[in-house]
Amino acid sequence: MIENRGVVYLGGGKVEVQSISYPKMQDPRGRKIEHGVILRVVSTNICGSDQHMVRGRTTAQTGLVLGHEITGEVIEKGSDVENLKIGDLVSVPFNVACGRCRSCKEMHTGVCLSVNPARPGGAYGYVDMGDWTGGQSEYAMVPYADFNLLKLPDRDRAMEKIRDLTCLSDILPTGYHGAVTAGVGPGSTVYIAGAGPVGLAAAASARLLGAAVVIIGDVNPIRLAHAKAQGFEIADLSTDTPLHEQIAALLGNQKSIAPSTP
Ligand SMILES: [Zn+2]
Ligand SMILES: [Zn+2]
Repeated sequence: MIENRGVVYLGGGKVEVQSISYPKMQDPRGRKIEHGVILRVVSTNICGSDQHMVRGRTTAQTGLVLGHEITGEVIEKGSDVENLKIGDLVSVPFNVACGRCRSCKEMHTGVCLSVNPARPGGAYGYVDMGDWTGGQSEYAMVPYADFNLLKLPDRDRAMEKIRDLTCLSDILPTGYHGAVTAGVGPGSTVYIAGAGPVGLAAAASARLLGAAVVIIGDVNPIRLAHAKAQGFEIADLSTDTPLHEQIAALLGNQKSIAPSTP
C-alpha cells in the first residue's frame, strides 16, 4: 500500500501535514468510476482562497484535505480514459467538471451540474464544492480525466519550467479570464485592482491581448515594486492622491478620466 500525505484542515488557523488514505477510483459519494486517473502530485500552490477556510471564515469541516491547484504525473488510469497514458505530465484545472452536462457544453465548467449534488460547481479540497479530496498531497484522484486534464506535451521542457506551469491550474487562467471578460484587446487601457498573483496574471494577460497601457493599483509597496519591475504602470493607493488623478497623470490626459459615479 502506497503511503499518502496531505495538508489537512483542523479548524480555524490550524492545518497540518498528515497521513491520508491513498486515492480510490471513486467519487465522493463512493461510486466506483472508470473515467478518473490517479496522479503523483508534482507541484501545487497555496491559493488566496484557501485562506478563507484556513482562517476559519467558512463552514469547512475539519479533516478536509486542501488544495485545488494541482500539477501531476498520471500513475493509474481507469478503463474509460482514452487520451492519457501512464507517465503523462498534466495540469489540473481547479474546477471539477464532467464535460457532458449543459453547463460544460456551454463552456461554463465552473458550474458543472454533475459533480456536486448540493449545487452547481465542484472543486478539489474546497468547502461546499462537492467533497473532492484536495491535491496539496502526494497523490490525488482526478475524475473525467480526458475532459479535465491538460497534458503538458514535452515532459522534460515542462519540468524545466514547472513552477511557472503550476500557475496554469488556477492563477494564470483566472487572470486571463478576467482580462478577456473585461474586453481587453489591442490598444486597450487597463486598470487592475490588486498586485497579487492573480492581478499580475491579469496584467500579463492584458499585455498578451495587446493592451497599450496596463496600470496596477495596490497599497503594498513590495507588490507595487514587483509590478513595476515587470514593466507595468503602478498606482499607489496608500497615498493621498486619488486614483483617478494618478491614472490621468500616467495617461497624460487629464480630461478623459473622471471618477465614475455610483
Ligand atoms: Zn486557487
Ligand atoms: Zn458538467
